[in-house]
Amino acid sequence: MNDLKKHKIQFTPSVPVDYLHDESRKTGTADAIAFPQTYEESSTLVRAAAASGAKDITVQGSRTGIAAGAVPDGGVIINLSKMDRIDSGRADAEGNAYLRVQPGLTLADLRRHLNTFSVPGIAQPAKWIFTPDPTETSASIGGMAACNASGACSFAYGPTRDHVEALTVVLSDGDTLRLTRGQQKASGLSFSVETDSGLQIKGELPRFKMPDVKNASGYWIRPDMDLLDLFIGSEGTLGIIADVELRLRTKPPGTLGVLCYFSDESDALRFITRLRKAAPSAAPDLLTAIEYFDDGALALIRANAHGMGLLLPPPKLHWSFALYIEWALESGGEVPADLTGSLLNECGGHGSDTWVAADAPSMDKLRTFRHAVPEQVNAIIAERKRGCPDLTKLGTDLSVPDNHLLDVMRLYRRDLHKANLEHVIFGHIGNNHVHVNILPRDMDEYLCGKELYRAWAQQVVEWGGSVSAEHGIGRMKKDLLALMYGAETMAGMRRLKNLFDPARRLNSGRLFD
Ligand SMILES: Cc1cc2nc3c(=O)[nH]c(=O)nc-3n(C[C@H](O)[C@H](O)[C@H](O)COP(=O)(O)OP(=O)(O)OC[C@H]3O[C@@H](n4cnc5c(N)ncnc54)[C@H](O)[C@@H]3O)c2cc1C
Repeated sequence: MNDLKKHKIQFTPSVPVDYLHDESRKTGTADAIAFPQTYEESSTLVRAAAASGAKDITVQGSRTGIAAGAVPDGGVIINLSKMDRIDSGRADAEGNAYLRVQPGLTLADLRRHLNTFSVPGIAQPAKWIFTPDPTETSASIGGMAACNASGACSFAYGPTRDHVEALTVVLSDGDTLRLTRGQQKASGLSFSVETDSGLQIKGELPRFKMPDVKNASGYWIRPDMDLLDLFIGSEGTLGIIADVELRLRTKPPGTLGVLCYFSDESDALRFITRLRKAAPSAAPDLLTAIEYFDDGALALIRANAHGMGLLLPPPKLHWSFALYIEWALESGGEVPADLTGSLLNECGGHGSDTWVAADAPSMDKLRTFRHAVPEQVNAIIAERKRGCPDLTKLGTDLSVPDNHLLDVMRLYRRDLHKANLEHVIFGHIGNNHVHVNILPRDMDEYLCGKELYRAWAQQVVEWGGSVSAEHGIGRMKKDLLALMYGAETMAGMRRLKNLFDPARRLNSGRLFD
């Protein structure tokens, strides 16, 4: 407690109700909350929580997570939203740029900062971007690293993991670890890493094979891996990410966004398959995103167009499916425009109702369209929860290999039709990763939806896919993680947690019980 006085930081016993839930709409309880401003304060708070015997420490970023990872279940909360400082950047000998930030910084604030950011040591007036782009830009950078978040443009640039250069991690006893890419590596599956206090943490990583698809399910393990990657995607179960160095990219000279409509789902799927095949011919221009909206999503947009702040007219009634396609234009941009247009004609689309954006204000209009659907789904669930408090969002996050895209879409359609459940499907179809959002009206429909979700997960795993491509496991998908990896791998993951958190105090009850 002396440390708490020294740092003038403390837990407050009254916890505002907002901090008891996240975007999963699940609500918990907590005894106290604290808002550190530095990693030293986070470390002090962790020590104090351990000394007071707190049963659980819940780590919170912006609470935009939808797997209930930031929802407390008793114990104390360490909320990082006030750790939002941005340090100066640096360049390396090859001219790459890096920026160190605190974990509570939001993606939106980072982007604002990058608009005017220049890197000391790099003379040319390049603009820099951080490419991971979860649709919800109020997500914190620490939360994105903890969940290995991704978004539409991860199709080309990969998830958050690929853009993190260094981390400072506060462990469950308050000790700290500093990890830099390339500097602390496992040897095969054995590892040893030294904390700031000189303690060696040694052990064996569990042996299992991760699926070769977009994946954010459980710990990320490979022989000879960078130990930094253990913490990215670990959902706060191994340590608190208290400082992050990001690897930036130069902004492409131009961007092309296209929103196009189809009357038939099979046409839209044919277009995707052909576009993915043809895209390399447009090099150096880069296909960065293919996003999907089904008839339920378009109906939602039509019905709520006024309240959504949409800057485009709602889709005409004869269109049932939409795709949003984005290109990074490293050259003139003619090839991507011609390619997209000709494929669209061949696959049943129509130029007259296609929206094309090539400047920042028009791109914003298309992106608002994309964001509107998940926001509206969350609002519907919040409304229905009033009459039925046990309802939570039932949104899938399954991904499959390329050769099973058509199979998985057929599976969803068949089962949803049979069960007669209200639903919308949207998401990152370029990565064979759509979110089926079932909108249950009561607990019977909810339970029916849950059963379907589990059956789909089982099938997706058999096809070599993942039960969580980007949202993480949190508290809500532990059964699916176990289904994906089996008892032996789960035991290995538990052993790994015990090495870093022997008292199982940090974010306990996430990933596994
Ligand atoms: C409308 C909407 C759209 C979304 N779209 C996407 C999308 O396209 N792609 C995507 O990947 N996600 C998406 N999400 C989910 C969410 O935005 C991401 O998971 C995001 O990374 C969570 O960040 P956060 O700061 O809100 O974390 P929180 O919700 O606060 O926490 C999430 C988990 O990370 C842990 N955590 C948070 N910060 C830290 C830290 N510094 N150290 C250790 N552990 C920590 C928490 O304990 C919790 O387990 C969406 C959410 C919404 C509401």
